[in-house]
Amino acid sequence: MMKIPFNKIYLTGDELKYIQECFLRGEISGDGYFTKLVSSLMENKFSVKHVQMTTSATHALEIATRLLAIEPGDEVIMPSFTFPSTANAVMLLGGKPVFAEINRENLNIDPEDIKNKITNKTKAILPVHYGGIGCEMDKIMAIAKDHGLYVIEDAAQGVNAKYKDKFLGTWGDLGCYSFHGTKNYISGEGGAIAFNLDDDELVKNAKIISQKGTNRNQFIKGEVDKYSWVSIGSSYVPSEILMAILYPQLKELDLIKEKRKKINDFYYNNLSKYIGLGKIKGMTTIPEDRDSNYHLFYILLDNERTRNNVIKRLKDFGVLAYSHFVPLHTSTMGRLLGYYSEDLPITQEIGKTLLRLPMYTHMTYEEMDYVVKSLDTIIKEL
Ligand SMILES: *Cc1c(COP(=O)(O)O)cnc(C)c1O
Repeated sequence: MMKIPFNKIYLTGDELKYIQECFLRGEISGDGYFTKLVSSLMENKFSVKHVQMTTSATHALEIATRLLAIEPGDEVIMPSFTFPSTANAVMLLGGKPVFAEINRENLNIDPEDIKNKITNKTKAILPVHYGGIGCEMDKIMAIAKDHGLYVIEDAAQGVNAKYKDKFLGTWGDLGCYSFHGTKNYISGEGGAIAFNLDDDELVKNAKIISQKGTNRNQFIKGEVDKYSWVSIGSSYVPSEILMAILYPQLKELDLIKEKRKKINDFYYNNLSKYIGLGKIKGMTTIPEDRDSNYHLFYILLDNERTRNNVIKRLKDFGVLAYSHFVPLHTSTMGRLLGYYSEDLPITQEIGKTLLRLPMYTHMTYEEMDYVVKSLDTIIKEL
């Protein structure tokens, strides 16, 4: 029996070399040589005016909501099918997350339902690109423009993927990325925020927020002769050691994507027949107008019992598969916010029926084949 983990970190082989360089330079706190290398690399590759590296996507989202001055009473529309960080970033400032429904095709927020949820308190839209497949950003940007709303993209899973001709994270006013160890490009913990608004003041304020509310950056640049407390802030600057890990990962940006595409295509080509046979209700499907980064591969089963049973049976074969988000509106916190599970029926159903298959950049053909053969056997039992 083979043992297939759900996820494994992928290293290019150059990480230790760059970490060592970091020590040799004597620079291990933030905002140094490697931070500049990775942020410029992202600016060039994704055609963004400015990218600031952060300690996580969670923190990038927190910087974003603070920069756009989300205040008590402000409503921010987002999917419920996401990670708690998306909603926390709004709630930490006293704002209210308003959950909109997702579509069944790629589990992204439904633009029509965004429109339904707009009130005179709505301040921003916070779409999440599920699994690295982009939301319909042209429609979302048009809605935002019509109603004078900001757009923050939670592109934590969407690094190096595109909707139409533009990279995810570069459509909205601000875009948030993750380099957490479970994502496609990793620094262990880490993230970034992309500035698409042409607003130097915002970039300056993001630095102040990230540097404990001080104007340390202006001091380093020689713009002021000492630095001090100028605003409310926190500590969101990643260590140079982490950015040294990220650098070789980003140098292999497209190679890593290519490797993951092979896994995605193998799963899709071997499993899509089960949709026709009525055994699987849906699976990761990339629309023509989108370029995925192949962050994950999911299948949708008939009901929660079948899903949990397939997870259990795969485990018997040594294959680790997982469900994904507990929809935020059905969580303990969601109930405290006044939501009922039935409020978003599609989201509720997806939360119960989705199963993610093992996926990691250096997965071998034998491993993928073993997962598919195990599923072939299990699906016959259904
Ligand atoms: C992973 C993830 C986050 C959090 O990323 P961190 O870098 O771990 O803070 C936020 N939102 C979504 C959709 C994610 O998948």
